[in-house]
Amino acid sequence: MKQSAQRRQRILHLFKARELVTLAVLTVSLLVTYRIWEGAERDAQQNLNTAFDFRVRESNIRIEQRLAIYEQILRATVGLFASADTVTRNEFRAFVSSLSLQDMFPGIQGVGLSLIVPPAEKDAHVASVRAGGFPEYDIRPPGSREVYTSIVYLEPFFGSNLRAFGFDMFSEPSRRIAMEEARDSGTAAISAKVVLVQESGNEVQDGFLMYLPVFRNNVSRATVEERRANILGWVYAPFRMNDFMRGAAGELASDLDVEIYDGEQVNPDALMYDSHAEMSPGAQASKLRRVAYIHAGSRTWTVVTSAMPQFDVRMQSDRPKLILQSGISISLLIALLIWLFLDDRARALQAADQAMQLALYDALTGLPNRKLLDERLAVELVKARRDHSHVALLFIDLDKFKPVNDAYGHAYGDLLLKEVSRRLQSCMRESDTASRLGGDEFVALLSRIEDDEATLRVADKILNRITEPYEIAGHTFHISASIGVAVYPDDGSDGKSLIRSADMAMYAAKSAGRANVKLAERVQ
Ligand code: GH3
Ligand code: MG
Repeated sequence: MKQSAQRRQRILHLFKARELVTLAVLTVSLLVTYRIWEGAERDAQQNLNTAFDFRVRESNIRIEQRLAIYEQILRATVGLFASADTVTRNEFRAFVSSLSLQDMFPGIQGVGLSLIVPPAEKDAHVASVRAGGFPEYDIRPPGSREVYTSIVYLEPFFGSNLRAFGFDMFSEPSRRIAMEEARDSGTAAISAKVVLVQESGNEVQDGFLMYLPVFRNNVSRATVEERRANILGWVYAPFRMNDFMRGAAGELASDLDVEIYDGEQVNPDALMYDSHAEMSPGAQASKLRRVAYIHAGSRTWTVVTSAMPQFDVRMQSDRPKLILQSGISISLLIALLIWLFLDDRARALQAADQAMQLALYDALTGLPNRKLLDERLAVELVKARRDHSHVALLFIDLDKFKPVNDAYGHAYGDLLLKEVSRRLQSCMRESDTASRLGGDEFVALLSRIEDDEATLRVADKILNRITEPYEIAGHTFHISASIGVAVYPDDGSDGKSLIRSADMAMYAAKSAGRANVKLAERVQ
């Protein structure tokens, strides 16, 4: 009884352990997967960063190179003025057209000459230009100023460039600062962001101007004073920002969002170029973002580059995702295998338990069978021999059970036998054994019973219990039993002789008219 309960408990534990072990294995393997994935993700992120850094550097170098190339073009143009005291409009045109600006350097709007006109010479200057074929010419804006400058040449001399003809750039502060810087330093200077006078109102872009001073030939220009005294004007180039930046980000320009701010601050007012103007400036397309500074003369541009989603998509490695997917699959597979393996073990134990149940227990009532009874009897006799205690064996045979079968059928007989076994068990202690030998024959094994009297009390209790009426499937049955009692050591020194004595006592009870208890006859 106790043993089988323990076994069932063990199997139950095994099933519980199975869940725990499977869960633990799954958790550990998922954890390992997570760690590997984390490493791969970090590597991928690092690679992405490196690739992005490379692209940003490449893009910024292109911008710097462009500025350097345009400075070279202006230097070459200054060289033209160094070669001769006067350069005519036609000579200037021929020179600039030989540079093939539009084909080679599409970002540049033109190359021009801004000439200084002292107030005293203004009228003569205007008259001379008008006489050269431009009767409408004048220095703009009108009004009297300390000094005038005028864009006298600007090639190519057509289209929107004509709007700049005669414009006094010195009259506008942003331009003037750059012009003075170029004059005083003797080198190239670029202006803050401006809207070019060429802009006609449609698709107005920000722009900037690059200046290089032109000095009188054959005079010293070593000091600021000498440079101020000997300057004739400026060779300059106007740039529209979008045109200047076209292609600067390289082949895969759509990968990058480039914003250029005039100055060292990232603030919307200073924004002079935005490659993805459709996104609000400063809105981050991606986690990848770099800020770099480009220096041109004394000006600084702040270039903010961020990766567009395309960049992430194109550069993103599949490795972490693959690791995650296969890691999860493998973890689940391992867990499943362990689950099945442990299930097999639990089932094997369960099957063994069922087989044992069949071998040692009665199929109908679940009581120990003859075999188990013999085993327990042997164990109890060993204990009794050692402790000098008593063991009692009660043989119980139902009276006139056959007629129940005959009258109601075997199924009713079975139900009655089950109920008898329940009643028998209810009369006994945990340490006792109730067993069914077969047919309508039951045995009660009472361990450590004090004496004959105590044994007979239990036998009477059993008889009374069995004799109580039975309500089975709508029928009332009345049945009794004949009980034969044998006690160790008085009625037998071993199992066999005890059983024989009890059996004989039971027959004596039958002969005595049934429904009674008989103690084995003792040879005095
Ligand atoms: P007695 O008073 O002399 O003991 O007569 P009885 O009618 O009880 O007959 P007996 O003990 O000699 O025989 C037991 C009967 O129990 C024989 C058989 O018909 C019936 N039997 C044996 N095993 C089973 C069983 O597993 N189920 C059912 N329903 N009946 C059984
Ligand atoms: Mg009987």
